[in-house]
Amino acid sequence: MEKEVWGRIRSEMLASLGKDAFTNWIDPLEMLEAGGRTAHFSVPTSFIGNWVARNYGESIMGRLNAEGLKVDRLDFKSVSAARPAASITAGTAAEAIPIPSVDLPGSPLDTRFTFDSFVVGKPNELAHAAARRVAESGQLTFNPLFLYGGVGLGKTHLMHAIAWETQAIRPEARVLYLSAEQFMYRFVQALRFKDMHSFKEQFRSVDVLMIDDVQFIAGKNSTQDEFFHTFNALVDQGKQIVISADRAPGEIEGLEERIRSRLQWGLVVDLHPTDYELRLGILQSKAETQLKTMPDVQMDAGVLEFLAHRISSNVRVLEGALTRLFAFASLVGREITMDMTQECLADILRASERKVTVEEIMRQVADHYNLRMSDLLSPRRARSVARPRQVAMFLSKMLTSKSLPDIGRRFGGRDHTTVIHAVKKVEELKMIDSQIAEDVELLRRMLEA
Ligand code: ADP
Ligand code: MG
Repeated sequence: MEKEVWGRIRSEMLASLGKDAFTNWIDPLEMLEAGGRTAHFSVPTSFIGNWVARNYGESIMGRLNAEGLKVDRLDFKSVSAARPAASITAGTAAEAIPIPSVDLPGSPLDTRFTFDSFVVGKPNELAHAAARRVAESGQLTFNPLFLYGGVGLGKTHLMHAIAWETQAIRPEARVLYLSAEQFMYRFVQALRFKDMHSFKEQFRSVDVLMIDDVQFIAGKNSTQDEFFHTFNALVDQGKQIVISADRAPGEIEGLEERIRSRLQWGLVVDLHPTDYELRLGILQSKAETQLKTMPDVQMDAGVLEFLAHRISSNVRVLEGALTRLFAFASLVGREITMDMTQECLADILRASERKVTVEEIMRQVADHYNLRMSDLLSPRRARSVARPRQVAMFLSKMLTSKSLPDIGRRFGGRDHTTVIHAVKKVEELKMIDSQIAEDVELLRRMLEA
């Protein structure tokens, strides 16, 4: 009998709400029972439960009573969570419903994106420190915190880490993380379903709001407008805001001036492109994790260094390469050698191949050491010439895909063993001679720029 009642209410609500809202919110509800003045529903997620309670609770209750069921309480249990998602009691205002932090309309957080798994190096140390401070202090040291940087440099990772850490330290804090795209989507939905009131309430009831890839809303005027108001409301209430973008606030085209200046109020930090050391650190940390799950895979020394040299600054590409290597090694039961790496990752290596030529390297190196290019090709063996020549050979090996004999030939017809010797020598020197290490790094950066 309750099932029939619920069936009738469903049809009524379909007619009154329209197909979209019905499909989104009412269709997922399953009525379990209605006894002892409470109607029990199961919902797929607590978010849906909350939403329905807030927005349609009164209407559902009214209809149940009209059908003769004496009900003054609705109870929504999420099938995915142990605790009740939401409940509503007749006569209570909607804001009486507590919103647990997991139920905010945010995006799920990636469990791998924590501070523990974030490798810190020169290019990201400032961003990392700022993110930690925001998560740990619980005070508004930087508000907003604006993180920016190119693709795959760890912006999303840091934001999730802030969310995890905040929830760990202050479980009562309501943390909402979502992409700017989702923000816009929810905003548009709210407009469409005339739900602006609950939209505003939801966004304004959080303690920490994090919006990822905010460049997305540039040029989308009404979304920007709403973002601006949300932003201001939260800042006025002393709530923390964390924003990310792929470039600095001043460089986002189509972003309103008032938003731009508001974003610059807090701390603006950038994630620089990764350098060799950071890439190596990340590779080592990820390889360690992989090795834990595949203990019989063996990896040759030098493979990680090779990858750190040859793959672009985008960490996502780096990770992808490593994952593929391990998958391949465990499938065919082979050791990860240099040869296997080059074969298995040929496409990735080719794609991130730098367009640097041996000639350019020679020119830059000669310039840097105040020599002529012809000196590098000459048979002169004075250290003032031989050392720069070795550096140039080393860089040629690292930054181009030319073979050792090929490189030797270009340096005045030298033998490939000379190139091998040069590469070894520079590798050694980099460890003990900070001047050489600096020179090499500087040259590499200029060549890659
Ligand atoms: P972005 O949001 O800046 O485009 P992501 O945060 O999505 O980049 O990072 C891309 C991938 O690289 C993710 O898997 C992330 O875990 C990883 N990553 C980026 N930087 C680091 C780092 N410093 N340490 C460990 N992993 C990192
Ligand atoms: Mg991202």
